[in-house]
Amino acid sequence: MDIKELISRPSKEQRQALLNKEVSAVELTNAAYEQIDLVEEKIGAYNSLTKDFALETAKTVDEKIKNNEEIPPLAGITLALKDNINLKSYPTTASSKILENFISPFDATVTKKLKDNLIPITGKVNLDEFAMGSSTENSAFKITRNPWNLNKVPGGSSGGSAAAVAAGESTLALGSDTGGSIRLPASYCGLVGLKPTYGRVSRYGLIAFASSLDQIGPITKTVEDAALLLNVISGHDEKDSTSLNQPVPDFTKELKNDLKGVKIGYIKELCSEGLTEDVSNAVKKSLEVYKSMGAEIVEISLPLIKYSIAVYYIVATAEASSNLARFDGVKYGYRAKDVENLYDMYVKTRAQGFGEEVKRRIMLGTYALSSGYYDAYYKKAQQVRRLVKNDFDKAFEKADILLSPTCPHTAFDIGSKIEDPLSMYLTDIATITANLAGIPAMNIPVGLDKDSMPIGIQLQANCLNEAKLLNVAFKLEEAVQFNYSTPIKNLV
Ligand code: GLN
Repeated sequence: MDIKELISRPSKEQRQALLNKEVSAVELTNAAYEQIDLVEEKIGAYNSLTKDFALETAKTVDEKIKNNEEIPPLAGITLALKDNINLKSYPTTASSKILENFISPFDATVTKKLKDNLIPITGKVNLDEFAMGSSTENSAFKITRNPWNLNKVPGGSSGGSAAAVAAGESTLALGSDTGGSIRLPASYCGLVGLKPTYGRVSRYGLIAFASSLDQIGPITKTVEDAALLLNVISGHDEKDSTSLNQPVPDFTKELKNDLKGVKIGYIKELCSEGLTEDVSNAVKKSLEVYKSMGAEIVEISLPLIKYSIAVYYIVATAEASSNLARFDGVKYGYRAKDVENLYDMYVKTRAQGFGEEVKRRIMLGTYALSSGYYDAYYKKAQQVRRLVKNDFDKAFEKADILLSPTCPHTAFDIGSKIEDPLSMYLTDIATITANLAGIPAMNIPVGLDKDSMPIGIQLQANCLNEAKLLNVAFKLEEAVQFNYSTPIKNLV
């Protein structure tokens, strides 16, 4: 197999080639950079490259192979890191002007784990500024395009992560998911994306957007690669007080279990109204696939879904307004020039440093937290959030896994929603409840719609049940045989 082809294959095949000494890790890494040279101008996935560092890691892998030392399961497999996750001595910008020249003085816990596992990090990838958005159009630096169709968005906010993997510019990626930011881009780009249980993966070193919702997770071509990457990044971390002190199973162990007697609940409110015909058919087809495997199909109702967008946009913006208070031009990042006094410096720095959407969120959040409105908005939203969690608890008494589309439609045209924030917010209808409830959720690509754009199915499980979630996802992946090679080959 030629190396171009090999780097677009799942990690297992690349590992086999490495262990058979058919190819070196340096060659694999260089091949990713060749692909970047070829397509990046059109795709715009990367904010910055970390080539020296990636090649250094690859060299270490090759040394170990040469000395017949054991290498970790994903050693030598390239990964693109979302640019809101810190990598020591390299820029971390969160795609914001306010952090444009910020060089990280430390590694995020997940980054340290990637290093320990000898995973070459190819670069830092684009996102909606501070992860606020669903299309990656809110980046202060550039628009990222969907490799399946360059006129479409790749989804957001981890659009750079998804586009990089879909375009073969890395094999793996990490994203972050506060309200769907891993699953939505995975869905739009025909990839697997997994948001773990809240607390499964350390948030230390992830630039906080909404701390009670944020989670880091994998974006990959296959379910097995998502499981392998989750193995790498999971685990308790004393540097994150919300990280769970729970055993981490080997997430690849149960992938192939059969599904006889497993209860799959389709979420009535997300599977009936407002879906495009192709998405609706994909849901039906997935349920048939599961039924044919011996799973039991049940209907689940989550009536509070209709309030979830409102609840999310109060909780998330309230937390964001507090988290973003630290960007004041004093400690790090951009500082406005030509200022009259300290107050003027704060005001001008933030006015010039933040983009429109971030300012909108800070204003909404500050309003929701202000003394006169706290009870009416923030407190009420927290109360409804608890009720949403209660609904999920009840649902998981009836079903092991919940099924819905990841989004009611496939990727939309660049520019078509950016002027209308509400319609952009509505793309998150299926994904945000998992963050409110803290449960794990993932996207599986199942086919293409009439415009040849990928359709994604979302599966959700109860807290800490990632192994079952991955098992059920693996079975669907096996049945649908989604062809994840993007038409990008035709575009260069
Ligand atoms: N699209 C949602 C938002 O704009 C979710 C973002 C995310 O998950 N980071 O807030």
